[in-house]
Amino acid sequence: MARVLTQSELEDFASLEWGGIAERMNSAPRAALEQVMESLDGGTLSREQCRSLAYAEGDDLLGLLVAANFLRRELVGNLVTYVVNRNINFTNICFVGCKFCAFSRGPREADTYFLSLEEMAKKAVEAWELGATEVCIQGGLPRDLPPFHYRDILRAVKQATPRMHIHAFSPMEIVYGVELTGMALGDYLRMLRENGLDTLPGTAAEILDDDVRFVLSRNKLSTEQWKEVIRTAHACGIRSTSTLMYGHVETPEHWVNQLLLLRDIQQETGGFTEFVPLGFVHQNTLLFHQGIARPGPTLAEHLKIHALARILLAGSINNIQVSWVKLNRRLSQLCLHAGANDYGGTLMEENISREAGATAGQYTSPEEFQSLILEAGRIPAERNTTYTRINIKLHTEELIAEQALEPEFA
Ligand code: SF4
Repeated sequence: MARVLTQSELEDFASLEWGGIAERMNSAPRAALEQVMESLDGGTLSREQCRSLAYAEGDDLLGLLVAANFLRRELVGNLVTYVVNRNINFTNICFVGCKFCAFSRGPREADTYFLSLEEMAKKAVEAWELGATEVCIQGGLPRDLPPFHYRDILRAVKQATPRMHIHAFSPMEIVYGVELTGMALGDYLRMLRENGLDTLPGTAAEILDDDVRFVLSRNKLSTEQWKEVIRTAHACGIRSTSTLMYGHVETPEHWVNQLLLLRDIQQETGGFTEFVPLGFVHQNTLLFHQGIARPGPTLAEHLKIHALARILLAGSINNIQVSWVKLNRRLSQLCLHAGANDYGGTLMEENISREAGATAGQYTSPEEFQSLILEAGRIPAERNTTYTRINIKLHTEELIAEQALEPEFA
């Protein structure tokens, strides 16, 4: 059995060189990692090799982290990107009842809220004036939502801020909108796009395995529905992020299945902009208090999922994001050394993780992002939502680079 790594071994992995760690590793994981470092393509790994990497421990795990850092450097260089954005969670009223969610409220609870279209437009204007290029709009699912409310949100925000990128509505909200309007999925998505929807968050994925989904939430959309929404959105020219929630009841096997599924979808559509591992924030959730889930991820799990994603998705989804709101700052910096290259959004408002007990705070200013990134020895760069425009931020100079970092998405 592999030895259990100490906290300091895990925290200091970034000082290791591949040559030094490789000779202490077992031959199979070492060969698998060398294969990807050579080809820069995670698609060359068999499912069994992926599985063995997902279960890596001891020196094999350290090797995984070092290899992920190497691949990150080769594939996307030393920039760490972020987007200046504002989250608008327009209501906390929700009938779905996910057991991992501490944000939602029943309609009769005291602290419910529902933002009007005017309030949302005002928030978008405030964000634009503060330099945001994106609003991320998601909310609970109230039972009596007017059928075309999601379309009307887009109209209100786009009218108030025509140049703001609208990143909005999880696949669960899209399924709900389809139900409310009776429209076909493709028609519904095209209508949203015509009214201002730019990209879709690939949230509501959690773990794309129906047995696990049933434990997390009995009313959530199924794996098939999630895949259908994402594929149809991509076919309609609406790109999306991709996500996975880790640290609750799932196993490394589920991580591998999900990463390979996302790789397959990317192969078909090219529509994913990035992959975002989302650590389960357990404190205020039923899932934890009912004794169903473990108390969130360990340090080893946080590092491993970012590294595994970098390796398995290499050559397919090359942007791996650290969700800093779910981690503390030191941990998010460590994840940057374990394969991640993006810090996500500055999030002028962040309600969902805070309600669940995350302590990283509601907002990190662009200046704080820049110093965190410089402190990690990397180059900060503000990006747009789709990573096609990069503005490198250094202390003394700014360099604007227009570049297509990924093949053009049709
Ligand atoms: S995660 Fe979303 S759908 Fe689930 S209960 Fe919370 S707000 Fe509702």
